Amino acid sequence: MSRITSTRLADSRELIYFDDPGTPERTPGSLVDHRELPSRGEPGEVRYDALSGDWVAVAAHRQARTHLPPADQCPICPTTPANPSEIPAPDYDVVVFENRFPSLGPAVGDIPPLPAPGLSGHGVKGAAYGRCEVVAFTPQHTGSFAELGETRARTVIEAWAQRTEALSALPGIRQVFPFENRGADIGVTLHHPHGQIYAYPYVTPRAAQLGAVARKYYDDVDAKETLGASLLKAERDDGSRMVLEATHFSAYVPFAARWPLEIHLVPHRSVPDLAALTGEERDELSHVYLDLLKRLDSLYPTPMPYISAWHQAPLDPGLRPAGQLHLQLTSPRRAADKLKYLAGSEAAMGAFINDTTPEAVAERLRNVAAPASAETLEGTRA
Ligand SMILES: [Zn+2]
Repeated sequence: MSRITSTRLADSRELIYFDDPGTPERTPGSLVDHRELPSRGEPGEVRYDALSGDWVAVAAHRQARTHLPPADQCPICPTTPANPSEIPAPDYDVVVFENRFPSLGPAVGDIPPLPAPGLSGHGVKGAAYGRCEVVAFTPQHTGSFAELGETRARTVIEAWAQRTEALSALPGIRQVFPFENRGADIGVTLHHPHGQIYAYPYVTPRAAQLGAVARKYYDDVDAKETLGASLLKAERDDGSRMVLEATHFSAYVPFAARWPLEIHLVPHRSVPDLAALTGEERDELSHVYLDLLKRLDSLYPTPMPYISAWHQAPLDPGLRPAGQLHLQLTSPRRAADKLKYLAGSEAAMGAFINDTTPEAVAERLRNVAAPASAETLEGTRA
C-alpha cells in the first residue's frame, strides 16, 4: 500500500502525498509550507445555457494562472531554497493538491437545480462550486507518464482511486473526472508530468449524453448488464478492433472512433469508478495503461500528444447504476507532422469526421513494437 500523508498549504489548500510502498514516514518538515500566499478567492460562476440545457463555468479569474514557467520556477517540482514551489517537501513520489487557480471551487455546495426547458432557465446562474486538483506523477521535471515504472504508476492509480472516493463524498459533487493532457499541442500549460482531477457540481454534457443512453439500455435488459460491459464483449468476440486483452482489462478502438487515434480501456468487471477496482485490478491496470501509452509513443518519431480521460459513473442516482468505468485515450495526431483540428463540423455541430479507419488503427496499435523499457523515472526517495 502506498503511504498517504495529508497537509495544508499556506493558503489552506489541501495537499496529499502518496508515497510508494516501503518509503519511510514523512518528516514534519516536509509538511510545512513556508511561503506567504494571498487568501483564496471566491468561486467563479456557473451559468445555465437555456438553448442547450448545459451548464457553463465562467472563470475569468483564471487568466492570471501560470503559463509554461521556466524549469527553475516550476510550481510542481519539489521545493528548493531558490524555488519555493507548491510542494513543500524536498522530494516526493506522487502528490495531489488543490489547484491555486481553479475553474471550480474552492467552496463546495449545491448549484441551482436544473431549470425546466424554456425561458425560465435564461439568466439562471450560481457559484462555480466544486474542486480542481493537480496530480504530479513524479518529482522529475521532464519525461512523461509512459516513462514511469509500474510501482509509480500503481501509486498514481491509488491516488486517483482515493481522490475519487474522497471527492465523491464532498457536498454537491455530481461527477469526478481524472484526466491528463499531454503535449503542448493539447494546450498543456506546465511541462512537468502531471494530470488533473475535476469534481463537478453538475453532470457534464458528455456524461449526461452517455449516461442517458446507458440507462435506457440497462432498463431494457432488466438491469442484467451495463452497455459498456455488453459492448466490450461484442468487441472481444469480433476481435478486429482489439488492441490488447489482459485478465481484468481489455482495450479496443471503438467501432465509430471520432479521433485519428482513439482507444477505450475497459475493466472486464462492471464497476462505476476507479475506487471500486480491487487491488489485483489496480495492479494490472498499472501494467496495461503503461503498455498502451508506450504503444502510442511508438507510432511516430516524436511523443504522442494525447488526452487521457477517465469516464466514471456520475453520482446522480438515476445514472450511476448503468455507468461503467472506462478510459478514453485520444490523440488529434493523424500523421507524423499533422494534427486534426476541431473545425466547423466537429466544433459547431459535434459531427466528427474521422480520416482513419478504426480497424487499421487497431491493427497498427496491436503490432507496434513497444520500446524496450528505458530507464524509468521511478528513482528512489532520499
Ligand atoms: Zn517541475
